[in-house]
This record gives sequence, structure tokens and C-alpha cells, in this order.
Amino acid sequence: MNADLEMQNIPEESGGDTVHGSIRSLKDLIEEVTAAYTDPVEQSDLGQTLPPVFPFPALVGQVELKLALTLAVINPAVGGVLILGPRGTGKTTAVRSLVDLLPEVEVSLCPYGCLPEELEAGGMDAVCPDCAKKYGQGLPLTRREPARLVELPLNARLEDVVGGLDERAALHRKILFKRGLLSTADRGILYVDEVNLLPDELSDALLDAAATGHFIVRRGPVSASYRSRFTLIGSMNPEEGQLRPQIFDRFGLRVVSRGLRTPEERLAAYRQAISYQRNPVAFCQGYQDQVKQLRERILAAREFLPQVTLPEPVALVGMHLIERLKIHSLRVDISLFEAARAHAAYNGCPEVSIDNLSAVAPLALRLRRSTAIQSFLDAQDREEHELQDLLDTSLE
Ligand SMILES: [Zn+2]
Repeated sequence: MNADLEMQNIPEESGGDTVHGSIRSLKDLIEEVTAAYTDPVEQSDLGQTLPPVFPFPALVGQVELKLALTLAVINPAVGGVLILGPRGTGKTTAVRSLVDLLPEVEVSLCPYGCLPEELEAGGMDAVCPDCAKKYGQGLPLTRREPARLVELPLNARLEDVVGGLDERAALHRKILFKRGLLSTADRGILYVDEVNLLPDELSDALLDAAATGHFIVRRGPVSASYRSRFTLIGSMNPEEGQLRPQIFDRFGLRVVSRGLRTPEERLAAYRQAISYQRNPVAFCQGYQDQVKQLRERILAAREFLPQVTLPEPVALVGMHLIERLKIHSLRVDISLFEAARAHAAYNGCPEVSIDNLSAVAPLALRLRRSTAIQSFLDAQDREEHELQDLLDTSLE
């Protein structure tokens, strides 16, 4: 949405040249404007719902890819999915098809992402003036809606991603925070195709938000914090460049998508694609029941997940695997065990079994070893020994 459209959303009497009251600073001005700004912020068209998608159950093969995506929807704590593979292996189609399977989530109606629990915990000062006012009037601060699948294009501007001050509105003494993609993706999925080609400033913003679950926009004396708790899904073709290690580590599950292996599978995939292209609506209708069943199974698994426990002996097997593989990332335990819990929940098991762990271990453990860190640590060990020897002999 552009600045002009945003500005039309402000009730005329609330802003423009008629801002009144005791305004001493830019912050006061913002509060004044936002407090009078009663309509929920229109959802930005950057995060629009995608057109009818290829049904998830109609995807041929790609068993591991489908498993990883399913686990990430069941349990966001697995920490997202990275899909590596050459072009044309259906990575993007698979991710987009998730949109039919996402749960409904409670989302804030406010651009800052204020939530009722913040009010309950921190009082009126914990939310923006607009939300405090709404709360006082007994109006809801959130609504339930299907979680979003937001795609982050490589050529997005930083401001479109993190949101920011609407400068054109500021020129007219109206100050608005524009919602960025990171805020729109809150509690949903943020998908970055060719994530290895994402400019550094965008990937830094992404890492910040992914690490903390919120993002702070600063402009001079003004700042705003909004929520951004999303499941990150990235895809990349390793031929086209490396991914920065910080981002690589951020993905809990890693799938290597090799395309379809047998001529039979390739033929089946070709037939599906042609049939979908000819008549997407009819094709999707043919899968309606399967999509519905899968969605219900995923929703049931999400609800069941909090009850799924990880018994000590299974956890020890997992720890042993991590140790044997010499993986140093601290995130790997979380990804491994949370994926195993999601796998158990999906299969209706109240306890994680070795089978659940084995099913997800390749997803969580592959591409985790860092040769650079290992050689650094080996060199460090040698130096420690030398130092100790030297100390021992000098002190004798
Ligand atoms: Zn608010």
C-alpha cells in the first residue's frame, strides 16, 4: 500500500493541520494521531493471500520436503526449514501449497502488534494509546484469522520489510507507522526464495526479528516495536552462491530437494502439473477432501503437541548423535527434539520414541557441521596443551 492510500485511512478530523492538544514532541504527535485512528490498519497488500495454490497432497514424491514443512507448521519451535536444491524441483510450489494447511491464529489488529496479555501483565502503558483506548471501550485488540504465508521478494526495500515511518504522511504532519512484511508475517510463515541472494541489510533485519520475535524501527527520536514471530522458510540453489553462516544456522530443518528419481514419478508429476494448469479450480476440487483431512490432522497435532513428552533415554540418544557428529550449534538440540515431538504429535504418540527421533534426525542434523569451527577448536586444544605444558615445566 502506498503512502497516499495510507493517508486516506486517517479520519480527516483527526490529523492534517488540525492536530490539537498539548503536543510537545514527535512522540506526542504520533500518539495523538494513532489514538484518534480508530480503524484497524488495512492489511498491507505486500502480504496478500496468494492465488489458489497447487494442493499439498497432490505433490508427487518429495516425501522429506513434505515432512519438514508439515513439522514446521505443527511446531514453530523447530525453527523453520531450508530447502536446498537445483531449479525446477518444485520447492516453491511445495511451500506455497502450505497456505491451505495453516491454522487460525490470534493476530493483533494494531500495527505495533499490541496484545491483550501485555495489557494484563503491564497495564495501560504496555500497549499503544490506540489499544489502551480500545481496551477501555471493551473493543477487541485481536482477531482470529488464518495464519499468513508471506513471501519476501529479493528486491524488497528495507522499509517494505521492516516497516517504518510514512515520510510523505509526516510531511503533512501526519505520522504513521507502515506495517512491513516482518510484521505482516507475525505468527505465520515468511518465505524467502533464493534466500542466499538476499541483500545483507534484509537478512540482518530478518535475523534480528527471528532471534527476538519482534522488531524495532527507529527514525530519529521516534521508535516503535512490533511483533514478528514467524516460521522462516527459505529455498536456495547452492550453485548460485553460499548462504551466510548466521542465516544457515537459523534454519532448524534442512531438506535437500533432488527432484524426482524415477521415470514413473516424473511422469506422474508432469500429468499433475498439466492437469492443474488446464483447470486449477477443478484440479483443486478433486483434492478438497484430502486437503481438509490433512489440515485437520495438522491442527489436531498442534493441539496435542503440548502433551507430548521427551523421555530421558530418547533425549540421550539425540545428544549422543549431536556429540558424535561434532555439531556445535546450540540450536540443533532444540530443532532435533522439537521436530521429534512434532513427529510424535502428528502420529498421535504421547511420548517421543526412537522412531520419531530417527525420522527427523536427518532433517535436523544435516549440514550442521562447520569445518571452520572444528579446525579452530582443534587448534585451540593444541594451544591449550602447549600452554599447560609450558606452565607445568616453568613451575617445576
Ligand atoms: Zn496497539
